[in-house]
Amino acid sequence: ATNRTPLMAGNWKMNLDHAEAIAAVQKLAWTLKDASHDYSAVEVAVLAPFTDLRSVQTLVDADKLDVRYGAQDLSAHESGAYTGEVSGAMLARLGCTYVAVGHSERREYHAEDDGVVNAKVKAAFGTGLTPVLCVGEGLDVRKAGDQVSYTLAQLDAALEGVPAEQAKSVVVAYEPVWAIGTGEVATPEDAQEVCGAIRARLAELYDAELADGVRVLYGGSVKSGNVAQIMAQHDVDGALVGGASLDPEEFAKIVRYQ
Ligand code: PEP
Repeated sequence: ATNRTPLMAGNWKMNLDHAEAIAAVQKLAWTLKDASHDYSAVEVAVLAPFTDLRSVQTLVDADKLDVRYGAQDLSAHESGAYTGEVSGAMLARLGCTYVAVGHSERREYHAEDDGVVNAKVKAAFGTGLTPVLCVGEGLDVRKAGDQVSYTLAQLDAALEGVPAEQAKSVVVAYEPVWAIGTGEVATPEDAQEVCGAIRARLAELYDAELADGVRVLYGGSVKSGNVAQIMAQHDVDGALVGGASLDPEEFAKIVRYQ
């Protein structure tokens, strides 16, 4: 859509140990390089488990791969007595570009509310990472027809107090919870409705120019067979891909969606 560089980001979730991660990134890069298709206009990223990141960094640096990487979560805190947490600064030191914030699985299983998500967005920006802010409604909300207002309320809360200087580089991923890992993909029209509303809200919160530059991704059961229709929507600038990103050949097909 327009002049925004599409971003295809794979969310591995709790899959692939560090050795498997190396093989997956190598195969992904190889498949992309090998293809006759020009994918250079698309940005590719993997969001890996923390324990994979050092290995992925070493590989990407050594082979100068055109693949970005990041984590699936970060601490809201800077440092100190937070046993088990990983800071944004630690991730930045490992060369991470992105970090997912507010994924529905974090919100659901780790009680991350809007306040926590807002603090994590600020922590990401504060350490030079680009947050991939995940928003989206559950099935009950969708059935009630309230998906736009619900998702925009999450967006408002996540960006509260975030200055335009930072917000201009946020990536927003619209991920309807009922479509995540269910095989049930939103229709292209459903994706456009909410992604368009997200961009319009960014224009209200900031300004039209900022909103025009922000990438809004769709996530939820994206596969090589359905990605093209979704990417054809005006306000969809890429995909956050869970299950299908674990197979490098399938993920490469998604990257070459055209
Ligand atoms: C996700 O976890 O962000 C996701 C979109 O998962 P899946 O593609 O498996 O639905």
